[in-house]
Amino acid sequence: MRTLCVDIGGTGVKGMVVGMDGAPLSARERLPTPRPATPVAVLDTVVALAAKVGPFDRVSVGFPGVVQDGVTKTAPNLHEEWRGFALDADVERRLTKPVRSRNDAGVQGLGVIERRGVEMLLTLGTGLGCGLYVDGRHVPNLELGHHPFRRRATYEERVGDAARKRIGPERWNQRVRQVVDQLAPIFNYRVLYLGGGNTKHLDVTRLPPEVRIVDNVAGLLGGVRLWDDEGPAKPPARPRRKR
Ligand code: BGC
Repeated sequence: MRTLCVDIGGTGVKGMVVGMDGAPLSARERLPTPRPATPVAVLDTVVALAAKVGPFDRVSVGFPGVVQDGVTKTAPNLHEEWRGFALDADVERRLTKPVRSRNDAGVQGLGVIERRGVEMLLTLGTGLGCGLYVDGRHVPNLELGHHPFRRRATYEERVGDAARKRIGPERWNQRVRQVVDQLAPIFNYRVLYLGGGNTKHLDVTRLPPEVRIVDNVAGLLGGVRLWDDEGPAKPPARPRRKR
């Protein structure tokens, strides 16, 4: 079973085919996110990406906003037209394979967590993504990034990519530490994972020991876990014996 794992981001759309055991079966491909990032433009990009990675049987999509039952509700860093967009149905029609989608940070965490106790993941990219997990179960759509943090700015406004570019690495690193110090006593997670493209700008020496930096490929590997409930292929039903 080959899963095409897609990660739709604010600056890039990434994709890779992954096996049942989570091993990559293709190169990780990336195309720039089109602007304006309307559903049609972004999904054309997903189709172009799918053509580059070789055969696959099903598709998982990490989406940078709230997703409920395969329908996108918000997409702060993409386009207004994503409100109420039937993402699963549309990708299914375009790629003719079963599709499951979920919030991008939520998917990324599924690729790295230990499935024990409370674990949290933040993605530092264009936006600030958040995934919360309890014994391996994902609490979906915790939109921490848009919660007010300091000086009337939200978490995302404080540590998102626009802020990082504006204030420079020194202050951005200080702010990331403030975010971690704020969240630790609220969520009391066992582990906090930090992922996303901007982790390369992090000064890890400033972070507490329960913080782990995760590889960007994890963002894609987690897509396989969206299908865990399918279980192994069922054996054929035995014919009933007549009494
Ligand atoms: C969105 C989240 C998303 C994050 C990272 C935020 O602006 O609200 O849903 O996970 O960006 O893409």
